[in-house]
Amino acid sequence: MDFENWWLLAFPSFFLLGWLAAKIDVKQLMNESRKIPSTYIEGLNFLLNEEKDKAIDVLAKLSVNEPDSVELQFAVGSLFRSNGEIQKALAVHQGLLDRPDLTNAQRSRAVLAVGEDFFKSGMYDRAEDFLKRVGSGEYSPHALRLLIDLYVNQNEWHRAVDVANQLQFATGRSSSREIAHFMVEISALHRAGGDDVKAIDWLRKALKAEPSAPRPRVMLGEILKSQGRYLEAIHEWSQLESESVSYIGLVADALIECHDKLGTKIQCLEKFKQLAELSPNHDLLIRTFKLSVELEGQEDACDLSRNFLKRTSDLGWAIPLLDLIKNDVAEVSKADMDLLIEMATKYRQDEGYLCDSCGFRAHAHYWRCPACRLWDTYTPASISKGV
Ligand SMILES: [Zn+2]
Repeated sequence: MDFENWWLLAFPSFFLLGWLAAKIDVKQLMNESRKIPSTYIEGLNFLLNEEKDKAIDVLAKLSVNEPDSVELQFAVGSLFRSNGEIQKALAVHQGLLDRPDLTNAQRSRAVLAVGEDFFKSGMYDRAEDFLKRVGSGEYSPHALRLLIDLYVNQNEWHRAVDVANQLQFATGRSSSREIAHFMVEISALHRAGGDDVKAIDWLRKALKAEPSAPRPRVMLGEILKSQGRYLEAIHEWSQLESESVSYIGLVADALIECHDKLGTKIQCLEKFKQLAELSPNHDLLIRTFKLSVELEGQEDACDLSRNFLKRTSDLGWAIPLLDLIKNDVAEVSKADMDLLIEMATKYRQDEGYLCDSCGFRAHAHYWRCPACRLWDTYTPASISKGV
């Protein structure tokens, strides 16, 4: 019999072995499930039914009867914490730390749990102490993440940068966007202290850490503008065009001011028209329209607005214009046009900005959501009611 035929005979044997293996697993599983106390199942049922208080009661009683079960203690501690009962969570986790029989990994986990309990209770000094003791290993990234949050909550940006770098190293995942934000915060502190040189220095560092980050560019341009370095400010903001064109809306007014100082507003209008083609967002459209009215006249501005309407589904800024213009530009007086612009602007202000993560609405743009505390979750262009 040749080689290929031998294999044909072997197939049924493999199926038989697989079937036996499956039988053994099922048997073991059945044995294990019989050992699970009914109270444990009861606790799980409460959890599944989202009756957390009852689940905690049942599992806490069970953990007293089963003091050797480390996993059960961790589960009860986590439940207490998630239920806001931090002191009880701490008692459970500190009890675990007192045990001499924990493996190194379990000890790290218990140290992390105590650190997290202190963090949740706002006792940052003690939390920091424990979180730093977690050390390397599988619990290190979680501990570093909490340490970053702890430093951010306390505005300790230098430390946040250091730990974010460690986290990057530990996980192999980039934290550069976050690091850039921390460096911008350091820059803002220097600026508030009147040291623009250091403020600019930190913004440059932020851009080195994350060249595509829009925030340092926005801030850098603002400092340069405040120093009368209009051309440099324009150059800095022009970098946003390639990476984050939608952020141009945030600096559009400042850009117009810079061009005004340099006597180059017509160039600004041409640039805005190009950008509006690329990113027809509300902020850019309304400013392009205003500039067009000012520099080219009402008729050209209305032609422009019609062109924009074909390109964007964001009708919010243009609905009042359309209602009043009604295809007869000649009848629109300067006063009417000013009123239209005012209405369109007010419409924008009524809508504001929206957090992509938690849906929190705000009138101003935030780099970090005041509600969910996440970075870069606000769409840079304001949201209008337009369809
Ligand atoms: Zn949010």
